[in-house]
Amino acid sequence: MNEEYGDAYPVEVQWWRPRRVTAADRRPRIAALPGDGIGPEVVAAARRLLDALGEFDVTEHLVGGCSIDEHGTALTDEVLDACAAADAVLLGAVGGPKWESTDPDAPRPEQGLLGLRKGLGLYANLRPVRPSVALAHASPLREDRIRGTDLLVVRELTGGIYFGDRGRADGEAHDTCVYTVEEIDRIARTGFEAARSRAEGGAKGGKVTSVDKANVLETSRLWRETVERLASDYGDVELEHVLVDNAAMQLVSAPARFDVILTENMFGDILSDEAAMLTGSLGMLPSASLGEDRPGLFEPVHGSAPDIVGTGMANPLATFLSVALMLRYGLDRPGDAERVEAAVEAVLERGLRTPDLSWVEPGRPPMSDLPAEVEVGTEEMTDAVIEELQR
Ligand code: NAD
Repeated sequence: MNEEYGDAYPVEVQWWRPRRVTAADRRPRIAALPGDGIGPEVVAAARRLLDALGEFDVTEHLVGGCSIDEHGTALTDEVLDACAAADAVLLGAVGGPKWESTDPDAPRPEQGLLGLRKGLGLYANLRPVRPSVALAHASPLREDRIRGTDLLVVRELTGGIYFGDRGRADGEAHDTCVYTVEEIDRIARTGFEAARSRAEGGAKGGKVTSVDKANVLETSRLWRETVERLASDYGDVELEHVLVDNAAMQLVSAPARFDVILTENMFGDILSDEAAMLTGSLGMLPSASLGEDRPGLFEPVHGSAPDIVGTGMANPLATFLSVALMLRYGLDRPGDAERVEAAVEAVLERGLRTPDLSWVEPGRPPMSDLPAEVEVGTEEMTDAVIEELQR
């Protein structure tokens, strides 16, 4: 029992443990949720990638706008049950102009995502940011600034101001930020464990930067206290506290100094988008949302890109990198995860680019040490990654 907090304080909170699936046991079960817009296009590409990697039982289900069209709701109980019974969930994207409405009672595609997060108890959102060397010129930052950047944002996903009491009356509005010690403790453990495993995995690391606003906010002071107390369990991991405004600045001035950024829901929402732009394209960013004893949810960060649906030009790489996270964190196949990541890097080094990646800043001289860029669509990019996997 913890003396200060009594029995309610979870002394043993488990780090994410993938459901272990061995070949002798059964095939890994993946619930695929293609969703809307380019979601089905990138998920179809991911299924081809999975077929090239091994044997997986993949079942597809509706979520988001397509589920609203079919069932009147963005997530049915049957689909949530199917996801809960799977080993991992792979999602494309949801939403689009068809379902945008000012009617507060109209069902919204995003409710599917929130329902999945809640229903699967996904409290940790992981977003790795490792700009590809071959795409360094696509970053809005100078190459010398981003060189060596390899960071992971660990964001708390189910608490804080997004879930607190809110209201509006008499020309006044309020949103309330609430955090419990338990909520902070479990996400902080995720951050420390991630830093430890990155260091063991040979990535630079072993450092947690806990981001808060402890000079102003009481929730941040509880956050800092709780993280600090936990640090004694992780003597091998370096811990620093940085105020959120300072963190936002350092992410663009010296991103390579970070390893694991551990932060609460709203700060994480904003900082992870800022960090994401270091890579230069939305089409490259994967994410994982994890809980305890439940399947994780793996999805590209981008949306349904209604402007390019059906053109065959959607970049599938963020979804492939999400598959890599699924293999690592969801299915306990770190070797396969590394193979996928290496294959993605290899095709970029060969100069292959979907249109979203072929943007070069006007006036910037071409990089002489890289091969010429070749514009390709979803299919060719997928073929090339699979070819690299099979080398
Ligand atoms: P978006 O990410 O869909 O698109 C932004 C821009 O990036 C567009 O120009 C798009 O063509 C481009 N883009 C995005 N992904 C790409 C890819 N894989 N390859 C090539 N180009 C790509 O964001 P948006 O336009 O703000 O939103 C469109 C819809 O998606 C909205 O309905 C929004 O609510 C929804 N959305 C869903 C998610 C999700 O499912 N997790 C996330 C963000 C937005």
